[in-house]
Amino acid sequence: MTEIVVVGAVAGGATVASQIRRLDNQSNITVFEKDRDMSFANCGLPYYLGNVVDSRDKLLATTPEAFSEKKNITVKTHHEVTAIDDVNQTISVYNHLTSESTSVPYDKLILSPGCSANTLPLNSDIVFTLRNMEDTDAIDNFITTNNVQSALVVGAGYISLEVLDNLHYRRIDTTLIHRSSQINKLMDQDMNQPIFDELNSRNITYHLNEEINKVEGNKVTFKSGNEATYDIIITGVGIKPNSDFVKSSNVQLDDKGYIPVNDKFETNVDNIYALGDIVTSHYRHVDLPAHIPLAWGAHRGASIIAEQIAGDNTIRFKGYLGANIVKFFDYTLASSGINPQELSNFDYEMLEINAGKHANYYPGNSKIHLRVYFDKRTRKIIRAAATGVADVDKRIDILTMAMMNGLTVDELTEVETAYAPPYSHPKDLINIIGYSARNK
Ligand code: FAD
Repeated sequence: MTEIVVVGAVAGGATVASQIRRLDNQSNITVFEKDRDMSFANCGLPYYLGNVVDSRDKLLATTPEAFSEKKNITVKTHHEVTAIDDVNQTISVYNHLTSESTSVPYDKLILSPGCSANTLPLNSDIVFTLRNMEDTDAIDNFITTNNVQSALVVGAGYISLEVLDNLHYRRIDTTLIHRSSQINKLMDQDMNQPIFDELNSRNITYHLNEEINKVEGNKVTFKSGNEATYDIIITGVGIKPNSDFVKSSNVQLDDKGYIPVNDKFETNVDNIYALGDIVTSHYRHVDLPAHIPLAWGAHRGASIIAEQIAGDNTIRFKGYLGANIVKFFDYTLASSGINPQELSNFDYEMLEINAGKHANYYPGNSKIHLRVYFDKRTRKIIRAAATGVADVDKRIDILTMAMMNGLTVDELTEVETAYAPPYSHPKDLINIIGYSARNK
């Protein structure tokens, strides 16, 4: 009997196990998860904290018992994989409930351990990070038990922005600080202006180039010398790979601790695959490496590995496009393609438009700021970014498809968008970018 062992039971791990079972009734599949829960919806956690998602159960897709009954897959929570012996094809597993260690053999090993939240060296029980359901429960309990009225959110990446939006929705008076002036790094910095507009219009205090020096009780002393008190502090200051247990093996890690994989999600060691936030791979539309720690990649990786192991081993991963999106109060900010820091690899040109999302005479209009970057030599699109209060996702999804198919900026004239006055224009924003390119 083939033994398939998976490390991590959330986005990548639980999905790959299910996908394999769909194609393979025979193998033994065992998933080890170091924490309490499996298969929860990480992306929904900020919205649960904001009471936008009203029930905790809606975020917990399944349990080990249900997984075993429905799919014949064993999930062992509170079981941490501590080492890999790739010569003898075994892993060491530590049971946090019994404090016992065991050696478990594998024929195929699939790593989806994800990342952890970076923490700040603040010795305080009012400081939290948000990565999983346990963190969410801890924050939610703390808010309720302590009747939290004020919060400090540290960091201005997309998770912190979502947390701030949701705490505000929960009527908690929230302040934001960020240690530099560069926020929400996946977006062009000047296109982040809606974030500041949204903060200002709601009188939400924020400080850039600010850091915490120390926390004593509820009192925070900042690097600037300012002091303030908060009931809770939630930090979102980046992520680090959960790859310490891999270091005992011959599986290659890059200098940041991520696992490079090929287009079958294979590591450099036979019979060991990796997927999700832990892997580095490549972009689909340009010749550059990519590390995209977002949910789509975990799901795509799961599907490809499952087909590799249990079905069609000709399937290949064609690469990421890096599509990402965040809601911040009434605004949506989205982008796709290479990130702004990677533009310097190209001799590029940028075209933009700031116009109504649909026919100007139809009520309920709002503006979209849309930007497209293309390689001057090949004229292929390499990045797109958009902000606005509505239908930003549609434009970015269309441009993601354009990049997926290697369209040139001129070919955007040919994109036939579905048109009626409430939705778009007979010559949509996307087409106008194409015409501007041709006119140049
Ligand atoms: P995870 O889903 O994090 O799962 C890894 C699991 O492995 C963890 O449960 C961990 O405990 C376990 N593990 C680690 N080491 C071991 C070990 N040694 N032994 C056993 N188990 C181990 N992405 C989007 O695309 N859109 C969003 O809106 C979005 N919002 C997010 C909001 C939040 C608050 C968070 C935290 C993430 C969000 N993401 C979002 C990112 C998305 O959740 C991740 O890209 C995705 O979960 C990655 O899947 P993964 O399997 O690699 O890691």
